Amino acid sequence: MRPTARLLRALGLSLSVVLGCTADPTDFVHQDDAEEGDSQYGVSEAAAAPGVRVPTSLGLTRNGTFYLTFDDGPSARYTRRIMEVLATHHAPATFFVTGANIAGNEAILREENTAGHHVANHQWSHVVATSTQFTGFLTRERDTLDRALGVPHPRLFRYPYGAGNTAKEAVVRANGYPDGGIGWDVDTLDWCFGPDAYCDKVPTAYRRDYVGWVVSEARRTGGGVMLFHDIQGVTAINLDTILTRLEGLGYHFGALPSRGLP
Ligand SMILES: [Zn+2]
Repeated sequence: MRPTARLLRALGLSLSVVLGCTADPTDFVHQDDAEEGDSQYGVSEAAAAPGVRVPTSLGLTRNGTFYLTFDDGPSARYTRRIMEVLATHHAPATFFVTGANIAGNEAILREENTAGHHVANHQWSHVVATSTQFTGFLTRERDTLDRALGVPHPRLFRYPYGAGNTAKEAVVRANGYPDGGIGWDVDTLDWCFGPDAYCDKVPTAYRRDYVGWVVSEARRTGGGVMLFHDIQGVTAINLDTILTRLEGLGYHFGALPSRGLP
């Protein structure tokens, strides 16, 4: 992370917010910023940290099954392309949507829902919310998603940057999301692989091998929730290859449970 990004993060801000970069959400990439995987937690702590962990209440079968998740969309540029690949592989997914990217892209959310994917809550604004902001960011996103879809969305929530804590977890549950924040087991770090991306998270051997990195991490974990971003071109371009490789290794793709729906 660049020093500027580190400073902004310390202030609870994202660079894109500071720059007011909202004109084209598909340009709202995180190349200068932290992303979900750039957690403040180390690997050993991650298992227990609210927001980063995958709640056991979801009852997932991690052995050989991956649960694909795509954050920060919808993207007019990439999300439909990703959905086409998912359809080819009969792979269900969960799209954790950033509220500020919804306006003008409501049709994409309805297409995700119609295709059988989950449309889920990634907070209204992609920042580390203060405790004062948090309830409003959570519920504004919840209500906007339901309005855009015309039906309730599955009550699944993921914190931007995985930045949960015990107090926020109580707010999430009180507002209809029974599992609290949904973290991940495999971080693809896709935001690290763009042409101009700066990132020191990827081991040197994989710096220019996004597919190899994801497959390596998949083999290391053997299953679980996998974190991508549908605003990242590198994911749109390589997803078909990644899913084909994972299928070749005998892995399956599963859906997160439909929380809070009748
Ligand atoms: Zn995010």
